Amino acid sequence: MLFSELQLSEPLLRALNEEGYTQPTPIQEQAIPHVLNKKDLLGCAQTGTGKTAAFSLPLLQLLMNDNNNTEGQRRKLSTLILTPTRELAIQIEESIQAYGRFTDVKHTVIFGGVSQYNQVNRLRQGVDILVATPGRLLDLMQQNHVSLKDIKYFVLDEADRMLDMGFVQDVRRIIARLPERKQTLFFSATMPPEIKQLADMLLHNPVKVEV
Ligand code: AMP
Repeated sequence: MLFSELQLSEPLLRALNEEGYTQPTPIQEQAIPHVLNKKDLLGCAQTGTGKTAAFSLPLLQLLMNDNNNTEGQRRKLSTLILTPTRELAIQIEESIQAYGRFTDVKHTVIFGGVSQYNQVNRLRQGVDILVATPGRLLDLMQQNHVSLKDIKYFVLDEADRMLDMGFVQDVRRIIARLPERKQTLFFSATMPPEIKQLADMLLHNPVKVEV
């Protein structure tokens, strides 16, 4: 199968071509059509399987479609990607930058351990996608620099690592602030009971993808 068979538009196919990617990995092939169809997704996949593109590409596509209908308006934060570590957050943002370079989708990344000044400035300019680690996100939410009220698409990345790192309470507090109506993409390499429970709470009739 080729990326060009996956209902992705020309700006995304052009970026993939420049990256040198022609064929989707198994998780991409399985996940992308369902995400484009606005289904919730439960993905059992580790880093290295291509899971970042499996959620980034269809979300960029959905946001391009959404932005077509609201051209010229200030961007509302509609997509939250929550990931446990700063390294993962930076990698995800870099992937979105690469795949989204020919689109008008705006994105930024926030994580702890550095000054919040530049992060807040970028948020003020308006973004469609926010990639975040839990602690810094809660911090900026408490200071009213981030509102989750317009989130339509939510990605929970590496849920089992969130548990291992002691972030599950933080994640639950963030989830409590998300709108009820949204599309959720949930990724975890393993499914311990606490993560299964979180997935059951969050996901509505999810498509399950395992690689
Ligand atoms: P990930 O699992 O998302 O961390 O991706 C693992 C690596 O595979 C990253 O370096 C990606 O740039 C690369 N990659 C993702 N999708 C593809 C693809 N369809 N073809 C070739 N490489 C890919």
